[in-house]
Amino acid sequence: MVDVVGFINDKKEEMVQLLKEIVERESPSTNKELTDLLGSWLAEQFSRLTKGEVTKIENDQYGHHYRAEWGEGKEKLLLLAHFDTVWPEGTLDSKPFRIEDGKAYGPGVFDMKGGIVQGLYALHALEELGKKLNKKIVFLFTSDEEIGSPTSQELIEKEAAGSDRVFVLEPAMGVEGAIKTSRKGVGIFQLQVEGKPAHSGIDPEKGVSAIGELAHQINYLHGLTDLSLGTTVNVGTIHGGTTSNVIAAHAEAEIDLRVKAQSEFDRVIPLIQNLDPINDQTSVEVTGGINRPPLERTEDVQSMYSAARSLASEYLNIELPEKETGGGSDGNFAAQLAPTLDGLGAVGDGAHANHEHLIVKEMPVRSALLALLLMHYGEEKGGYEDE
Ligand SMILES: [Zn+2]
Repeated sequence: MVDVVGFINDKKEEMVQLLKEIVERESPSTNKELTDLLGSWLAEQFSRLTKGEVTKIENDQYGHHYRAEWGEGKEKLLLLAHFDTVWPEGTLDSKPFRIEDGKAYGPGVFDMKGGIVQGLYALHALEELGKKLNKKIVFLFTSDEEIGSPTSQELIEKEAAGSDRVFVLEPAMGVEGAIKTSRKGVGIFQLQVEGKPAHSGIDPEKGVSAIGELAHQINYLHGLTDLSLGTTVNVGTIHGGTTSNVIAAHAEAEIDLRVKAQSEFDRVIPLIQNLDPINDQTSVEVTGGINRPPLERTEDVQSMYSAARSLASEYLNIELPEKETGGGSDGNFAAQLAPTLDGLGAVGDGAHANHEHLIVKEMPVRSALLALLLMHYGEEKGGYEDE
């Protein structure tokens, strides 16, 4: 196993070069032309580095997805990566790829193009060193994670359902590079309130304010937050009314619900869906529901994390902390169907933010960690054994 670590470490400059090339191919989720260009380039890189097979999964709406395979076996291990970013076309002009003080900057470098490079080099090492695993590796490259995975969710779930383990190349958490062993589930709801319009000066007694009703509902909804359980309800947007001298006939709001456990979805969702008007002359209607289920810190997740921590300490001489996050990823979908470990990608900071960067010297370390995990779960002969 030590040979894998050394091999990848020697490839650091190549990895940085590939990182530059992938970051300089912009890929905003909603720009099909650009994501398609990057997708086909990634497929070539996969074939070149791993000699594996790549299949294009056609997509009319967003960029084509790619399903890549390496090795052989009845069972499979699944790697998840998305190659779209939140950054619009032209971001490179103001934020070109650059390295400064050991940090690489550029749109999507941390979320999650760095993770893709690390994943490719983990498989490159296994291929070049002639490692034979008893499971096939399936590497999914998807194009629409940053907009909620509308066209890839089904594909991810189908692959995860048939997989022995799932590894998600989303960024690690914090500069200490923690593995994400718990991700909150996300619910999104729309609330519509109808009142009765009237002139606020001439006939105030004839109107019923939808805005007044919405204000009460917001207080109630925010009161559902229970930080001790990790449950939060946030009314994130409100709209309503027409002009200041009209009692508002209509108001609406968008609600974000986050929970750590499915049991909290079961408890809180009915409270949101069955809101009663406080003023019975108004009506309220709620639509929406679960967007991503929670990735819970199950025994499976804990055992994968402790395998990763042991490998990291034994072969890479690093401590590998774990953390929970309120953000969702495709790991949330996969975790419902197979044991899933998330946050195995780049170490750095600033996902979706102006200071987005990754720490260059961590790239070969995390790439090697992934290779070691694949060997561990793929039972490479003479490999790491559980104590
Ligand atoms: Zn991401």
